Amino acid sequence: MTAIDLVGLGKTFGSVAAVRDLNLAVGDKQFVALLGPSGCGKTTTMNMIAGIETPTTGQILFDGVEVTRLPPQRRNIGFVFQNYAIFTHMTVRQNLAFALKVRHRPGREVRQRVAEVAALMRLTEHLDRPAASLSVNEMQKLAIGRSAIARPAIFLLDEPLSNVDAAFRVFMRSELKHIQRELQQTMVYVTHDQTEAMSLADRIAVMHQGLLQQVGTPAEVYLKPANTFVARFMGSPSMNLLPARLEGTRLACAGGQLTLDTATAAALAGHEPLLGIRPEDIQLADASDAREGLVLPVELVEPIGPRAIVHLAGDIKVVTDKRATVGSGGVKLLIPTDKRRFFDAASGLAIAEAGHGQA
Ligand code: ATP
Repeated sequence: MTAIDLVGLGKTFGSVAAVRDLNLAVGDKQFVALLGPSGCGKTTTMNMIAGIETPTTGQILFDGVEVTRLPPQRRNIGFVFQNYAIFTHMTVRQNLAFALKVRHRPGREVRQRVAEVAALMRLTEHLDRPAASLSVNEMQKLAIGRSAIARPAIFLLDEPLSNVDAAFRVFMRSELKHIQRELQQTMVYVTHDQTEAMSLADRIAVMHQGLLQQVGTPAEVYLKPANTFVARFMGSPSMNLLPARLEGTRLACAGGQLTLDTATAAALAGHEPLLGIRPEDIQLADASDAREGLVLPVELVEPIGPRAIVHLAGDIKVVTDKRATVGSGGVKLLIPTDKRRFFDAASGLAIAEAGHGQA
């Protein structure tokens, strides 16, 4: 069992602050995704956990014991990179057995573990094939198997699916979840793909420009983004952020006004608010509908299989399964009160709102 604690962790390369004051706790057997755009500091964080990079500031603890300056080989870590590290001149079996052979484990144990891991990775029928003859997808499974075989306490995966094809990526998402359950290991997974993070991780740590933006379950990060960066980064299409103005207990936005309850109005007082609403949480109605909503012209209807993305004036997007009802003129957007999020336009931070428990 291994829990990871990153305490005030920082890394600078010359004048570049790759990671700044990172505080993150990864529980034993948890699957945590480090998520963010290119250059946000994900790989540097991973490399510090692995011992490949030495932090400039802060501490790393495994199960409460400091390992900040411990060399990689003394950390009991399995590492899977984007570019799978396998020996192409060996068979699948030899590749899998390698980590145990160099540890001089008894032959019986090696054979048993190879059989177990091959079954887990669904590579049993390929055991005697040369690794060079595997498909890219199989090679990546072999790379994961090679790392898993020695039962590392912590498994680090750095964009392991970025080189595999789209169909296999979807398949591997569920496979990885299954593998993690079987292996019972703490996993840290680096990705820039929010769908991958949402479907795999127990918790997601969103990073941007070296700073942790938010950490939470996929649902927390998706439904209650801590700031506008997270709101935009999670979801496709991303959360709509409508500039708004508070007028008493009403909120004036493009296309009309929305009535607020007094607690929400009080929370928004003194802010220049942005109204956040997910595209799938907006209901569309006829422009003449009597209910309260925002009336906006439709600019484009983009079919996506059974549903459609309706593009409206002001770069507002609505995902709907009722595209037949969308005319070319104006539509009314109904915005349920429980789905509304509010952000301060100047700081980008979520505005804590009494009653909704917005963090
Ligand atoms: P990517 O997905 O593109 O790998 P990332 O989120 O993993 O991005 P890092 O690779 O950790 O980000 O890089 C964070 C910042 O630190 C970037 O600005 C990068 O250019 C810089 N950086 C990383 N490694 C080094 C290095 N060895 N020397 C100098 N700068 C570095």
